[in-house]
Amino acid sequence: MMPGNLVPLCMSALFFCLWIHPAHCASALQLSGLELAADKTDIERFVIPLHEKFSPENRNYTATVDASYTSYVVITARVAAGGHGSLKINDTEAQPGEPVKVRLKPGVNPVRIVLSPGGGGPATTYQLAVDQKDLSREYWSEPIGKGMWRIQDFGGFVSNEDMYLIEGKDRALLFDTGMGRGDLAAYVKKLTRLPVDVAITHGNRDHFLQVDQFPEATVYLSDLDVTRLPPALVNSRYKWIKDGDVIDIGAGRKFEVLAVPGHSLGCVIFLDEANRIAVTGDGISSGSMVYMFAPTCAALDQYLAGLKRAEARIRRLSGLTLLVGHHYQEKTPLHGAAGKQLITDMRIAAEKVLRGELEGKPAKTVRDGRATELRQANVGLAGLWYNPKNLVTDPAALGFLRVQTADGRAVIPRPVFSSFQTGYTATVPAGVAQVEITPTAYHADHKAITINGKEAKSGAAARADLKKGENAVEIAVTPAQGAVRTYRLVIARE
Ligand SMILES: [Zn+2]
Repeated sequence: MMPGNLVPLCMSALFFCLWIHPAHCASALQLSGLELAADKTDIERFVIPLHEKFSPENRNYTATVDASYTSYVVITARVAAGGHGSLKINDTEAQPGEPVKVRLKPGVNPVRIVLSPGGGGPATTYQLAVDQKDLSREYWSEPIGKGMWRIQDFGGFVSNEDMYLIEGKDRALLFDTGMGRGDLAAYVKKLTRLPVDVAITHGNRDHFLQVDQFPEATVYLSDLDVTRLPPALVNSRYKWIKDGDVIDIGAGRKFEVLAVPGHSLGCVIFLDEANRIAVTGDGISSGSMVYMFAPTCAALDQYLAGLKRAEARIRRLSGLTLLVGHHYQEKTPLHGAAGKQLITDMRIAAEKVLRGELEGKPAKTVRDGRATELRQANVGLAGLWYNPKNLVTDPAALGFLRVQTADGRAVIPRPVFSSFQTGYTATVPAGVAQVEITPTAYHADHKAITINGKEAKSGAAARADLKKGENAVEIAVTPAQGAVRTYRLVIARE
């Protein structure tokens, strides 16, 4: 019996020695970090929090992601310096510290991260379970002051939109309506008993898409962004706002409109001076980068002028809390001195680029197969993604081009109007035989405007008859100095 018992004892002792020999222990690899991220666009990656706090000893992690933002996730596994061996993520060779894309399916996606020491020895396996869910119908909120809430769509998933609900005396104001697919109106009703009006920071779909859930509300929006809205959503409830307007909801809450054209022509900030709060949408970024590179954005000099006006308006405030359009982009908390500083830093960034003192890093983004060149400039808290070809508004630029039917229905040209782009198309139903065209020159000192050769006036409507089929309308602006610029609008009558 004795020898028989001794053999396995020896064998197990031998194995014991092999696996945890101090020399091998030193080479047993562990992760020093594990990061999960997703790409919102091809130039913007955001971090997805793990449900568990990372520590090298914890081998099991979970995370939840929203299906509409994440067909794949990006996993970065870090290994402490000094160790050598191999790293595999789902059986594919990976490099420590280098992001690896992992495709997701609906439901729980198991990810295995296996570290094997170079000299042989035990492999270490970390498990990550990524649950891909449809969160598009869910909302999340938190109180951020008396009668104030931050609301996020997509159940608060990190790549969502931020909305704000602020109560006044008899009415509440909802800033932006996001692009979730759930019942936002019912969610808002649970937070406030007051009737709700809606203020939209700018006409991008991620900020207004659920506005039709509030049929009783007055909707405040700059008319310069009307060309961004689906015509079906535009109706008489819209109250067009401009720089200097005030929305007073009582209970000491007044929101002054500060126009900051840039990200869109109609971008505004809603400033509550008494409470030192500003709802900023995407107008000055959310503390990461402001998107100013699209051809539909205003030129950088218009943006600078708006930033200067805003900066002057808040100069005397001791601090400012920015309620931003996308909280997940916030790199530092934007309240107090930092809230003011972001606006100042953005102004400095725009100024330096325009003066030629700062040249942003070249970058490119591809959307729907079309590449857009851009530059990335950073100053302090501010990040500016700008279009190097759209820095200064042309002396013969239109500031806006309004087209409507005789009975006042907006005709929406495509693409979205900007001073930078000169070619547009629009479609009207067969019954529309005439439209009113209102070109507004950006520079007041321009010499002349003509529509199809006929003299027109900046800001005044001119009638144009439409035949069936395509109708070309040429709007030419003669500047005080420099070359004539012609905008071409082709209106198709069905
Ligand atoms: Zn946005």
